[in-house]
Amino acid sequence: MTAVPRAFDPPACLLLGPGPSNAEPRVLRAMASGLLGQFDPRFTDLMNDLMALSRQVFRTQNPRTYPVSGTSRAGLEAVLASLIEEGDRVVVGVCGRFGLLLRDISQRYGAQVVSVKADWGRIVDPGQIERTLRDGAKVVAMVHGETSTGVLQPLDEIARLCRERDALLVVDAVVTLGGCEMETDEWGFDACIAGLQKCLGGPSGMAPITYNERVERALYDRARPPATNYLDLTQLQRYWSPERLNHHTAPTSMVYGLHEALRIVLEEGLESRFERHRRVGAAALAGLRALGLEPFGDRAHKIPHITPVRVPAEVDDEAALRSDLLEDWGIEIGAAFGPLEGTIWRIGTMGYNARLENVRRLLQALEAVLPRHGFPVPLGEAVPAAERAFAAFAQPASTLA
Ligand SMILES: *Cc1c(COP(=O)(O)O)cnc(C)c1O
Repeated sequence: MTAVPRAFDPPACLLLGPGPSNAEPRVLRAMASGLLGQFDPRFTDLMNDLMALSRQVFRTQNPRTYPVSGTSRAGLEAVLASLIEEGDRVVVGVCGRFGLLLRDISQRYGAQVVSVKADWGRIVDPGQIERTLRDGAKVVAMVHGETSTGVLQPLDEIARLCRERDALLVVDAVVTLGGCEMETDEWGFDACIAGLQKCLGGPSGMAPITYNERVERALYDRARPPATNYLDLTQLQRYWSPERLNHHTAPTSMVYGLHEALRIVLEEGLESRFERHRRVGAAALAGLRALGLEPFGDRAHKIPHITPVRVPAEVDDEAALRSDLLEDWGIEIGAAFGPLEGTIWRIGTMGYNARLENVRRLLQALEAVLPRHGFPVPLGEAVPAAERAFAAFAQPASTLA
């Protein structure tokens, strides 16, 4: 007889890294609801509702606004794979890990990629995009919030350049949608991709996307279908339209979860939600500085809810420190990649986790853990510093603590 392992019973964990974040309890409850068939009219009504909610959150009128089944990367790959044909010129802004991802996906689908680079921790220069666009491009792919460095890329000027040069602007808004200003139509994006596990308050596994009629025309103007069936937007949009093309089986529970997450975002209201992310992010930054940690990257272009700090030179073993935080305090923070590996930590205060109480918990934990790893900190200063920064915002704090 083989022994069956015990049921998995994960400990409660506070996820303050760059994603995933903890999910809203209401989202998890919605996901436990009974299953319906994917052509059940009650389910297709829910799909229609979900599209209407998504349009409000993306701030777009695009009828083609629906989720791709998969993590955010599936959304990015669906848009790029469905647009790119062999030899197409694609301009990619690269100043961190997710710019590299856009480049990698584009290359795999046969694009001739031109990277416009900036140092990790800086923004991509729109002037350099302009010069590159003089030779034309079918697609310009940009990351709005570069989670790997904490940098927020301004995109309005790049969108204007794309219009002038008749290039399609594809934007990775995975870490920004629902957390800070992100205006699909007003800023002139042609396609935009998000994810559920960052600022939208759910688990990973759904990638809301939106695209306009310029993109749709390009999808149908191809000589041959894209080299992917699962992520072919012309098929996915037919399932999400009244035609209800039978493509893949909808991940029913994920659709329930995304629907509830979007409802929560709109109940709170986008502006109040952005304000909450700004306040809590400012509190985290102030508290971390009070501990003697130095912020990393371009402060004028910081993602409000991602706070990167340098690992102090005195810290003996940064990975051991993070595992102490996890084991003794139940708190996860983010490490770094590529050229930044081992040199910064990234603190995410997103979605359901963007609350002052979580910042207090993290600061208290760091106050205990940092000295054990060789970095002495002033005691009792970080939490009050965070509270002062939080209170410095004009809005009433009623629902935020
Ligand atoms: C998290 C993230 C992704 C990747 O998302 P997955 O859900 O892991 O596929 C892509 N882009 C950005 C900016 C991200 O923050």
